[in-house]
Amino acid sequence: MAERFVYGFGGGRTDGDAAMRDLLGGKGANLAEMAKLGLPVPPGFTITTAACNAYYASGRVWPEGLEAEVAQAIADLEAKTGKRFGDPANPLLVSVRSGARASMPGMMDTVLNLGLNDDTAAGLAVKAGDERFAYDSYRRFIQMYSHVVLELDHSAFEAILETYKDENDCRSDTDVDAAGWKHIIAAYKKEVEKASGRPFPADPKEQLWGAVAAVFRSWMNPRANVYRKLHNIPEAWGTAVNVQAMVFGNMGETSATGVAFTRDPSTGAKRFYGEFLINAQGEDVVAGIRTPRPITKAAREEMGDKQLSMEEAMPEVFAQLTDVYRRLEAHYRDMQDIEFTVEQGVLYMLQTRNGKRTAKASLKIAVDMVDEGLITPQEAVLRVDPSSLDQLLHPTISPSFKRDVIVQGLPASPGAAIGKVVFDPDEAADLAQRGEAVILVRTETSPEDIHGMHAARAIVTSRGGMTSHAAVVARGMGRPCVCGATDLRIDEAQGQFIANGRVIRRGDIITVDGSGQKGWGQVLAGAAEMVRHELTGDFARVMEWADSIRKLGVRTNAETPDDVRVALEFGAEGIGLCRTEHMFFNAGRIAAVREMILAETAAERVRALSKILPFQREDFVEIFRLLGDRPGTIRLLDPPLHEFLPHSPEECATVAASLNVDPKALQARVKELMEVNPMLGFRGCRLAIAYPEIYAMQARAIFEAAAQVAKETGVTPNPEIMIPFVIGRKELAAVRAIVEEAAREALAAAGVEIPYLIGTMIELPRAALRAAEIAEEASFFSFGTNDLTQTTLGVSRDDAAKFLGLYVDRGLLDRDPFVSIDADGVGELVQIAAERGRSARPDLKLGICGEHGGDPDSIALCMRLGLDYVSCSPFRVPIARLAAAHAALSEKPQSRA
Ligand code: ADP
Ligand code: MG
Ligand code: MG
Repeated sequence: MAERFVYGFGGGRTDGDAAMRDLLGGKGANLAEMAKLGLPVPPGFTITTAACNAYYASGRVWPEGLEAEVAQAIADLEAKTGKRFGDPANPLLVSVRSGARASMPGMMDTVLNLGLNDDTAAGLAVKAGDERFAYDSYRRFIQMYSHVVLELDHSAFEAILETYKDENDCRSDTDVDAAGWKHIIAAYKKEVEKASGRPFPADPKEQLWGAVAAVFRSWMNPRANVYRKLHNIPEAWGTAVNVQAMVFGNMGETSATGVAFTRDPSTGAKRFYGEFLINAQGEDVVAGIRTPRPITKAAREEMGDKQLSMEEAMPEVFAQLTDVYRRLEAHYRDMQDIEFTVEQGVLYMLQTRNGKRTAKASLKIAVDMVDEGLITPQEAVLRVDPSSLDQLLHPTISPSFKRDVIVQGLPASPGAAIGKVVFDPDEAADLAQRGEAVILVRTETSPEDIHGMHAARAIVTSRGGMTSHAAVVARGMGRPCVCGATDLRIDEAQGQFIANGRVIRRGDIITVDGSGQKGWGQVLAGAAEMVRHELTGDFARVMEWADSIRKLGVRTNAETPDDVRVALEFGAEGIGLCRTEHMFFNAGRIAAVREMILAETAAERVRALSKILPFQREDFVEIFRLLGDRPGTIRLLDPPLHEFLPHSPEECATVAASLNVDPKALQARVKELMEVNPMLGFRGCRLAIAYPEIYAMQARAIFEAAAQVAKETGVTPNPEIMIPFVIGRKELAAVRAIVEEAAREALAAAGVEIPYLIGTMIELPRAALRAAEIAEEASFFSFGTNDLTQTTLGVSRDDAAKFLGLYVDRGLLDRDPFVSIDADGVGELVQIAAERGRSARPDLKLGICGEHGGDPDSIALCMRLGLDYVSCSPFRVPIARLAAAHAALSEKPQSRA
């Protein structure tokens, strides 16, 4: 039998339901579901997404059988409504609405009042006893159809309407009478013929097929393509088309149209919340031609609105609507976003879907619904999108703080941050590496600035809107951002910016508020008083549920006591990556580090290292105190040494003077250490193979610190020493011996036992492949997926901006592999390493410490690959906890991939 392409709903017989979303689209499936629930849904039918796909597969030809099925569906609709398509005495009018599986802006706009022509409009006028209504509907139809289906330019139609209104002293559309609309309709039709070369289609069937084709077409329009790419919606889903009998909210004072949420979408409060318009059609509410009014009396009073709410103006219909929304919420067990129309006192439901909400509202609604017995804690956890927590976790400015506003702009990315003004992305990256908080201030940003944006605590631009590069990237990175601060002028040469007569110099402290006040993002002078979002209440309950569900551990990447503290508050179970080189950059130590690098002999090197030792020990003491007995993975020195050296001749001269060495010798050494390709150069454990003293000093610092904290607190620290950039077993064995010897000496001297692990990072393909033998020397593997991605794909992250976007746009890569792990390539290496490693050492601990550790999709992959934990930056810890719970819940029904 041929595939069925059309499903009817409402008016007695309904073929589909909510479970058929893939085939009927969200709108169609929910219309069918509401009809099945016995709610008042105007009857209609849905043409399936499969029909859309077949249409495209055959080169834009109607699939076989579709025309006959639609003809039958129209006949059924005529029977259900008692009206007939094209019948002047009693015309059937319909809306044609697109509806994909996921709600998707960018698709075709709805066409209302389809079926009108000169004859049916005249008939409608008689039947409704309201000529103005009929011709208002007719002109709306011509306008919408011309724009949406015939794709003619809006402006000509607007000009016709405006000219008429001017010439006839009409202030607004409501002043135009029936004769006026007739006049305008004639002009519209002329315009259509002129612009398209063909008369406006009068035959309702032709109108209908034109609209159906337009919906299918819109699936591939550029707006829809962009949206799909942004949200990972496959092209293969296709869109459905809904054809539905019209109901009229524009039939006088007892008619209305509105939209509502069953709970408050911004706070989550359990109160019905919505807007409506009397004597209007659906589009008017969103179009902003008239200002809609609150639905409930309480909301009206709160706003101080004089005009009656729907609750007061139409109490019976309101009571009915209340009943409907309660039933819908109980049925869908989620907050609903609904559309309705009242035709002469009778309520009709036109749409329902799960409502979009803020992160705060999603937490509250999830928790309330568990308390109401509507959903389980597992469902509550799944209701909160992990990435959305980002909005909540960043510090904001204390409400009581008195703001000294330098300049305002667009609130492009939420949260607030304090830092020193820098104008240059390279400088931002350098300073951040040295542990400084910086704010990057630019006219606008481009992909070449990514490293500086990433390093900055916040970003400010003087140009660009909410979708500018700066805004999009900052939101993605979770950095607060104010963009389009047009009153701000940067003078890079002078090292300053000027705004509203004030001069702010490079290095000055400012605060950026990307969440905004009264709709404006703000740049403030000085360091504002900050507050953290309270981690109690709804948030804490959802996280508690998530923790009880997840199987993956969650640690943090942190090296400063501040970061460690934040991460622990956010629920980190330990440190997965503590980068020791950050400690080397600190202003007080860099001199000793440089001395160590410039040393000519091992003895000189040891002398310099002994100056660094006490600092390094202090760092670890603080961290161990905070960690208690939680595991702390400490990575020994990783970057190439030249990163610590001065580069320009002037810098060399200054450093040479302060170190009391010959500037020439210094410059020579700098030159010697320069590398063509430092990413693949003299770095990681290669440093320790050449200069064992470095790792020996670091290990000694770690174990002396651990011993000190154990004595002082009575709690034994749990250090895990991690060797970076390993390529094979023998290499790791050699480095391991250095660490073990230093540990033995330090612990013997302190007279304390500290159990510890030595493990390695897997960040090179060779290490992944040789994992079985490497595991003989390693108690744990931590996948450094940043480097592993670079070395597997042969792509340098810093140079990727030039082409990676192109690869994603052209579909050559599904995702940016630095955002979400490349599952097929890098993922397979992780899998190989995990399997081979565990085959040699069954209790091998496995974790990931690349930036992917905070990305929900990558976390799900880690779960499937059987890792023990993920590690991510402090602010992403709650996101990772929640994402790990999602991964565990979605694993259950399926077998391992
Ligand atoms: P969107 O997805 O943009 O909301 P819709 O298809 O839901 O598009 O329709 C746009 C507007 O037209 C909505 O206000 C909707 O309620 C209204 N509408 C759609 N179909 C009908 C109908 N058959 N009768 C009356 N109003 C309708
Ligand atoms: Mg809608
Ligand atoms: Mg690395």
